[in-house]
Formats: sequence, structure tokens, C-alpha cells
Amino acid sequence: MTNQSFQSWLAGLDRLSAAQWSQLQQAVQERSEGAAAVAAIELQIDTERRCPHCQAGGAVRRGTTRGLRRYSCKRCGKTFNALSGTALSGLHHKERWLALGRSLVERESVLRSAQRCSWVDGAAAAATGLAPSPITGCVKARA
Ligand SMILES: [Zn+2]
Repeated sequence: MTNQSFQSWLAGLDRLSAAQWSQLQQAVQERSEGAAAVAAIELQIDTERRCPHCQAGGAVRRGTTRGLRRYSCKRCGKTFNALSGTALSGLHHKERWLALGRSLVERESVLRSAQRCSWVDGAAAAATGLAPSPITGCVKARA
């Protein structure tokens, strides 16, 4: 986006409805949480950039894949990222992991957790008749 386009977009903020303003705030919050989650994952690569396949240090950066920095091992030639060789490798929605972790720590219901992680919104949950159960953490249908 050019600076002129950005200034035009910024000037339009005053014309947003309350619902649009809320959507904008949620989008900004989700993006900043996503960036924090990816940054936390990237901390798993130590300064030696040790290869999880052959344990050799000194791997070089080789672009990004699926939102994470990718490294190439000089010894074995294999590539890896901060999650390679872990149980989390291949899982999706990394940008939501911090929110999900907070939800687990706070022992939220499945529905509340899904709302926090933006997997379902409150209106959609109400429309389906689902309500969170704070005691069991299960989702129960309303009578
Ligand atoms: Zn290697």
C-alpha cells in the first residue's frame, strides 16, 4: 500500500460504524497475537542454528515456509524450521497457539476457547443454541 493510499484509508477510520470498528480492532489484535506466536516459535532456533537431522551447527537461512524461517544444513543439505523434529511440526494455525494456550491455562470451555481463538464467533454460537459449560468445559445444547 502506498503512503497516499494508507493516509486515505486512515482518514476513513472516522466513518466506520461501531460494528466495523469492532471488526478492525479484532483483526489488529489477531495479527499482533499471531506475530507474537511466530516470534516465540522462532526463539527455538539457537544461535548455532543446529540441524535437528545431523546435529551440525551453522545452518544458513533459506527463505520462509508456512510463516516460519527455513534453514538449510551445510552438512546434510536438509532443510528445517523451528518446529522440525517436534510434535508440533506440521500443525496449522500457529498464529493462534498463544491464544489457545491462554485459554487452556484459564480452563475455559471449548466454546469460549473457540471464540477466543476466532474459530467461532459469539453470534454463530448463539445461533446454533450452543452454550459453554464452565464447570465441565464441555459444550452443551440449550433446552
Ligand atoms: Zn544436517
